[in-house]
Amino acid sequence: MNCSELLQNLNAYLDDELSPSLKGAAQTHLSACRSCSVVVNTCHSTIQVYRHQYHQLPAFLHRKVMDNVNRRTRPLVR
Ligand SMILES: [Zn+2]
Repeated sequence: MNCSELLQNLNAYLDDELSPSLKGAAQTHLSACRSCSVVVNTCHSTIQVYRHQYHQLPAFLHRKVMDNVNRRTRPLVR
């Protein structure tokens, strides 16, 4: 799996919905690729914050967070 493939499967990975073989490939890539592990950790932290602290985040803040995530991931998706 390369960076682009990982990012294409990012949502499914974060939701733990990948097949065992894809999940294994993603984990192997993440252990070797710092850029992708930063993206995954950032998304994971964001999700945790949403779930546990800011359940009712105002829409403008939600947009800001998502813009930030998109800006960080865009240079990797080619
Ligand atoms: Zn990568």
